[in-house]
Amino acid sequence: MRPIQMVDTKTQYHKIKSEVDKAVIDVMESSAFINGKIVQDFSVNLSAYLGVKNTIPCANGTDALQIAMMALGLQPGDEVITPSFTYIATTEVIALLKLTPVFVEVNPQTFCIDPVAVEKAITPKTKAIVPVHLYGHAAPMEKIMAIARKHNLYVIEDNAQAIGCDYTFSDGSKKKTGTIGHIGTTSFYPSKNLGGFGDGGAISTNNSELAIKLKMIANHGQSKQYYHDTVGCNSRLDSIQAAILDIKLKHLDEYITARRTVADFYDKAFADQPKIKTPFRAAYSNHAFHQYTLILEGVDRNGLKQFLADYNIPSMIYYPVPGHKQKMFQQFNTASQVMPVTDWLTERVISLPIHTEMDAEQLNFITSKVLEFIHK
Ligand SMILES: *Cc1c(COP(=O)(O)O)cnc(C)c1O
Repeated sequence: MRPIQMVDTKTQYHKIKSEVDKAVIDVMESSAFINGKIVQDFSVNLSAYLGVKNTIPCANGTDALQIAMMALGLQPGDEVITPSFTYIATTEVIALLKLTPVFVEVNPQTFCIDPVAVEKAITPKTKAIVPVHLYGHAAPMEKIMAIARKHNLYVIEDNAQAIGCDYTFSDGSKKKTGTIGHIGTTSFYPSKNLGGFGDGGAISTNNSELAIKLKMIANHGQSKQYYHDTVGCNSRLDSIQAAILDIKLKHLDEYITARRTVADFYDKAFADQPKIKTPFRAAYSNHAFHQYTLILEGVDRNGLKQFLADYNIPSMIYYPVPGHKQKMFQQFNTASQVMPVTDWLTERVISLPIHTEMDAEQLNFITSKVLEFIHK
């Protein structure tokens, strides 16, 4: 059996090696390492894929969130509502910009922000909501957008884990996640669904005025060369990364299909297991399965993790400490916040290997070992 990994970017690379190698060599031959034409081409192609008017590539998904918040003109002390149950990048940039993170609960089925909790957390200082499409499952955007309209708030979608996911509205219309809010951000970190061979990120919006601001901020606040109108930062996607991503973008749907096939396999193997809750798929989201995350009930989770590791099966806890309990946010007194759903999930989730290169032998082995431990 081939070794089991959380992600297998090497096998994935080998399937498109000749195309990728050529594209990288082309960039090296052109020597247009920064802002080469391929960066613009990739941005246009990604916009077309997402069905959005503007996409601004940048250096990583964390920068994408920061630039988004800067472009919206959020001011120190403004409150930003976000889930506690997410990766630190979502919430860190809020504090970095001297904004106040307001942590709310998630829905225990979808792992995504709970709209009822969002509405309760709104104060006169609230300026924005940052829903996260965690693990590849869409947050309830229709409800979030309705709340945002009612209270005049901005919505930034953290789409780092869900690029390619489709959201279906109650009238039957569809949009890609990351194109529903005022701004959507994503990451091309190598293990993400659309992963580069290094860091990368992008910001999307249908609002052309915002697009101009985003672009300026990502480029030293520059309106034309050496004229700096606003404080910005230096956040670029390398031409080499853009060239690789432009090729991988053509395979993204096929990659997501491969992930869904893995998820279906796991779902079947763990069906009717009272101690295992397989990932819920809301009717509005077609789940891009960045992660396949189980909720364990009455199972020694660390025991299972170690048992799997003994058979060279990796697994991960995403994430062991929720945002409101991170030392980083002590200044906001969030540690005393009562968040039973988030705490409950934090103690019970475990993510199994899921990627585009898994075979039936590996999947049979993983599922048989999980079930063996559960029934011990
Ligand atoms: C990966 C990720 C990010 C940040 O991406 P980087 O490219 O690593 O900066 C932000 N939010 C979420 C939910 C992520 O998973």
